[in-house]
Amino acid sequence: MIFEKYFVPDKMFDTYEELTPEFLLERGIRYVFSDIDNTLATYDDIYPPEKLLRWLEMMKKAGITVSFVSNNNEKRVKLFNSRLGYPAYHRAAKPMISKLREAMKAAGAEKDNSCLFGDQLLTDAAAGKRAGLYVIIVPPIKDKKSWFFRFKRWLEKPYLKKYHNKARGVSNGKK
Ligand SMILES: [Mg+2]
Repeated sequence: MIFEKYFVPDKMFDTYEELTPEFLLERGIRYVFSDIDNTLATYDDIYPPEKLLRWLEMMKKAGITVSFVSNNNEKRVKLFNSRLGYPAYHRAAKPMISKLREAMKAAGAEKDNSCLFGDQLLTDAAAGKRAGLYVIIVPPIKDKKSWFFRFKRWLEKPYLKKYHNKARGVSNGKK
């Protein structure tokens, strides 16, 4: 089924903080291509919150390179990244993968040592899967209450539940 091929994450966590360097290194992942909005911070966080800075620092100390690959605009991404100076890409147009590929090339990353980290199945997971990466999804920190986001959540809900259980090893009694 096409949905399963392109939108199903390999792993889900409840928050970005649950993603640890150990989890990544055990799987040979040294490059994280991360979404920003609702994955690492809310739309209201112009700059990375303190706890996110600590999480990023922990990744860095473990030798993991984080690059931001965001669908948001240049102003948002540049301001957010201004105190970090990480590799950052705006208007990535996920689920398109040209910017993601550009980010991977610039970082010297390969498919099998990289992951895509995000909160949306239709954009983040799809981009990661299309590019052949390991995909890690967290639920959005704070949804924008627009009809568009509500629609996307509604669309994703049954699949999220199913694969959340699967990823956590909860059996629903069916194959
Ligand atoms: Mg997002």
